Amino acid sequence: MRLILLGPPGAGKGTQAKHLVDKFGIVQLSTGDMLRAAVAAGTPVGQRAKDIMARGELVPDDIVVAIVADRIAQPDAKKGFILDGFPRTVPQAEALDRMLHQRALDLDAVIELKVDEGILLKRVEKRIADMTARGEPLRADDNAEALHKRLEAYRAQTAPLIAFYARKGTLHSVDGMAEIEDVANAIERVLAAAEPAENR
Ligand code: AMP
Repeated sequence: MRLILLGPPGAGKGTQAKHLVDKFGIVQLSTGDMLRAAVAAGTPVGQRAKDIMARGELVPDDIVVAIVADRIAQPDAKKGFILDGFPRTVPQAEALDRMLHQRALDLDAVIELKVDEGILLKRVEKRIADMTARGEPLRADDNAEALHKRLEAYRAQTAPLIAFYARKGTLHSVDGMAEIEDVANAIERVLAAAEPAENR
């Protein structure tokens, strides 16, 4: 099974991806996690991405596309994968199409987590405050300014993917404001009803 989770920062993509990993035994490919690992390791990619990420802006398409192309070629991605945080721009989605086409693969579903932005901002701000209170380390982009930038980037560059995948007939929208378990159940219902890629 090959899936994309689409939604603004804080919508719960990572949480739902982890649930799907447990349920279906497929891997979660989070470009955010991969980029943070590159930053922590100080690789050339990490050095290019570090400041861009801290500001809440998008890392250039060529960098992320290369990372994903590498990652989906790994043996553990053979069984399937959940893309969490990728694609984030139309050129990334087009590059993904080409990558999958070259491997004679297709996407089974694109799941959009629909959220109310006002509530979302409060939710993320509360998570930041709770983590700070517990003395837990924060991400470099876990601050109000970067968060606004990340939402702006989502609106301007990522939201057009909703129409992009709707045109392809692979888009399914789920209420991301529901309880975590209810969102997970709604995703499972979508996947049970979605026509597998190999039948299309
Ligand atoms: P995330 O963990 O998905 O919220 O990503 C954190 C940050 O990593 C984003 O704000 C971007 O700076 C960068 N990033 C992650 N995925 C992508 C992507 N597909 N395209 C561009 N930048 C990305």
